[in-house]
Amino acid sequence: MSAQPYFDAVTLAQAMAIFNAYSVVVWLVLGELFRISPQACRAMALGHALRLVTVLVGPLLLAAPVLGSLVFAWLSIGSTLALVIAWQRILQVRKGRRLPWAVAGLAAVVVLVSGIVGRGDVARLAAGLCLVILTADACVQLRRTLWRRLPLGVSLGLALPFVGWAVYGLVRSAAFYVPAWGEHFMQQGQPTALTIALSWLLHAGVSLSVLILLLWRLVSRVQTLVRLDGLTGALSRRAFESALLTALAWLRRGRPFALVMIDIDFFKRINDQHGHAVGDAALKHCVRLWRSSLRESDQLARIGGEEFCVVLPGADLTLAASIAERMRSRLAQTPLRWKGLSIPITASFGVALPATGDETGDATLARVDAELYRAKAAGRNCVCVAGEPAQAAEAGGSGPALPEGAA
Ligand code: GH3
Ligand code: MG
Ligand code: MG
Repeated sequence: MSAQPYFDAVTLAQAMAIFNAYSVVVWLVLGELFRISPQACRAMALGHALRLVTVLVGPLLLAAPVLGSLVFAWLSIGSTLALVIAWQRILQVRKGRRLPWAVAGLAAVVVLVSGIVGRGDVARLAAGLCLVILTADACVQLRRTLWRRLPLGVSLGLALPFVGWAVYGLVRSAAFYVPAWGEHFMQQGQPTALTIALSWLLHAGVSLSVLILLLWRLVSRVQTLVRLDGLTGALSRRAFESALLTALAWLRRGRPFALVMIDIDFFKRINDQHGHAVGDAALKHCVRLWRSSLRESDQLARIGGEEFCVVLPGADLTLAASIAERMRSRLAQTPLRWKGLSIPITASFGVALPATGDETGDATLARVDAELYRAKAAGRNCVCVAGEPAQAAEAGGSGPALPEGAA
């Protein structure tokens, strides 16, 4: 007596139909209601809808085997194309990429022709090969876009269902020509429980990969929104506070740093004279210029309207002062060009080392703020540097106010 499978093919097919119907709803809710990558979600919903229809093709396979194979092959091509298009959208692969469409279109035509000449097997083989090319392409796109940004295990895990999907498609198509394999997949003209279970599992696996990628994209976008200032692309105030705390923690382990605080001079005048849009352009202009004066490891943040701060890891006071001076002179020499106008912009700079024993960053910020205040009082467009920490505490922050052009 042969062992009975846990589930018969009909029950599995019904369960798969319910799963796909739910999946259509979930993807449509994600895309249309929550507006998360709507195009990708629509493609995913379409992929699941086509899988749902596949379940209904069973009776057609019995009644008209060749037509059944043809429709089955088209549905398989269509659902895989939908998945790959969704995948591309989420990976943000260049729009208008034609390869998946061309491969799927060609396969669909081959399927049609083989159906006309009564070769259901060729139709299935063409669908299988199309599946291999589309899924291989999906893996290549993953490698091109995200390989280095995701841990290797995650990338492999995401690509695995695609590989399984391709292998399954190929084996199933080839099974037409190997009767010993064929009976595992089809019996009395109907897909077996194994066929249904495997295709369900693999399709659900690919769908899960797309969902994970979508969530990862979403989380990274939220993290970027929190980390960066929306207007200038500099670090946000929140990210700056955490960078300062990290720098203070490193300081306790012996790694020094210096802080520069910047305030654009008479910024209100720029807004008043030229309008808010020019004010915004001026802020971006400053960040662009200052970035090119800083090292990769330096962290430039916008901590207020037209106030900025830079954490300079590993810098002593002399180095920090020269970096600040470079930033100051670069800005002073590069006016903002706006619709034929040349708008001069300058800024005042305070430079200080962290206060000893400062755990929260407040004392350090107060110290560098005092230097900035002195720079404003000294006539603006200059750099004021605090004395060494111990002296600064006694002197309340004294240091030379550098005249324009001086390092
Ligand atoms: P000071 O040299 O003393 O710093 O003078 P100031 O005019 O730069 O300083 P004040 O604090 O009086 O003005 C800052 C202005 O910055 C006021 C505010 O309208 C403007 N501001 C703040 N955030 C933004 C922004 O995101 N975009 C624009 N365009 N302006 C901003
Ligand atoms: Mg200000
Ligand atoms: Mg200002």
